[in-house]
Amino acid sequence: MAAVAEDIYIGVDVGGTKIQASCITGSGTVLASCRTETPRNCSTEVTLQTIDETIRSLLAEQNRTPFELAGIGIAVPGVVQQETGRVIVTPNMNLSDVDLGQHMRQRFNGLPVAVGNDCNLGTLGECWLGSGRNAASCVGIFIGTGIGAGIVINNTVLSGAGQTAGEIGHIVIQIPCGDWRHFLKHKKHDGNPAAKSMPRCGCGNYGCFESLASRTAIERDIRETLESGEKSCLKISGNVIKSGSLAKALKAEDKIVTTIMRYASQVIGYVCLTVRHLLDPEVIVLGGGVMEACQNFMMPVIEEIMSNDQLPAAPGKRQVLVSSLGDNAVVLGAVALVRSAAGNNPLQKKSAKAVPRYPTLRMMAENVIHITDKPYSGDFYLLSNGTVEPREKLPKKNEDGFRLKDIEKASQGGIDMLILITPGAGETLLPAKCRDYLHRRGIDYRILPLDEGVKLYNQSHNRRAAVVHF
Ligand SMILES: [Zn+2]
Repeated sequence: MAAVAEDIYIGVDVGGTKIQASCITGSGTVLASCRTETPRNCSTEVTLQTIDETIRSLLAEQNRTPFELAGIGIAVPGVVQQETGRVIVTPNMNLSDVDLGQHMRQRFNGLPVAVGNDCNLGTLGECWLGSGRNAASCVGIFIGTGIGAGIVINNTVLSGAGQTAGEIGHIVIQIPCGDWRHFLKHKKHDGNPAAKSMPRCGCGNYGCFESLASRTAIERDIRETLESGEKSCLKISGNVIKSGSLAKALKAEDKIVTTIMRYASQVIGYVCLTVRHLLDPEVIVLGGGVMEACQNFMMPVIEEIMSNDQLPAAPGKRQVLVSSLGDNAVVLGAVALVRSAAGNNPLQKKSAKAVPRYPTLRMMAENVIHITDKPYSGDFYLLSNGTVEPREKLPKKNEDGFRLKDIEKASQGGIDMLILITPGAGETLLPAKCRDYLHRRGIDYRILPLDEGVKLYNQSHNRRAAVVHF
């Protein structure tokens, strides 16, 4: 544990199916999380009570009381008046027109409480500690069942006049008004057959980004093609085609899935291009279940569209990256929001950003490293929060190499640099898919022998992690 007591916050992600509450330090280390099912077909009071109980059971597990907290940040899937914490509407749950901020402040003895939209806060989290950590402007686009998004400009969530800025999923990208040539020929505006056959978005409009590239849209297109008699290796179990099944079919080079996923990726690519031309953010972060499962197929398609942008611009760092924080992005963003509301925005002055307290490594004998006086001679991870975890033994054939599993584990929690320490240091030890993984999250990495790796770890001032192999 850190020697200097840091402020402790609670971040809550109230989703349609589950509620996640996490205990988080002021510098963004997730100490513990607790999940409960979101109650269904119940009164608003029951939902509020469940949020309250989820927080309290997390605190009890951690042997803490609400009096020790510095604040609570809450994310909900809907439109929120961020300044007051009032929920305006939540289409898929019963918090519409509820003053959630006020309710929670009353239940928690006047503690600071901030409330925001989940996708906005997911973007804020990524901009604080995830793939947007070195940017002051960041747009997050999350491809899942639907498409959610958020905009962070100058380290602050852009809310908009009606609190709905950043609804990128509902940008109309297939114009539903038909071709003028058709009208010229038929002399009347009777609509265009092509436009009429367009799928309708869940929001009621036609031609939305979400109606073309969400998992739901991809699934609809695949089912339609299968019904027409085409053959596919895709495994459909139950009612939904899961992102993982799509990834497997892509790996097997299934023709239908590949074709439809390429189209969806192109649509995402052109939306990223539109976002760049509208806001020119330093980083566009892509996340969500579909992107996380299928990034190796999707990212090259998106990157190609972005790199072919013909519109001139001043030289500058503009990147499209994959999200780094997974499920924790939203709760971290919620904490960033409640800190900002108290005039203590953790995204500002990123160069002076608080870094967790990291241990000092000391080389003892040739193959022994001491970490705070404890000797280590077997493989281990040094995680982004400064804790040590043993690494299981590798199969003989690649015992000096690193696996994607290592890279994913060590990258958790948001890091600037990953130090890979191994006696046979060399680029060949890192498979291309691992390098892609790091590159797509803007994470710098070094592969170094023991003594040099230890030195770099001790001297670095960044958020960092290491994998040590003896
Ligand atoms: Zn829509």
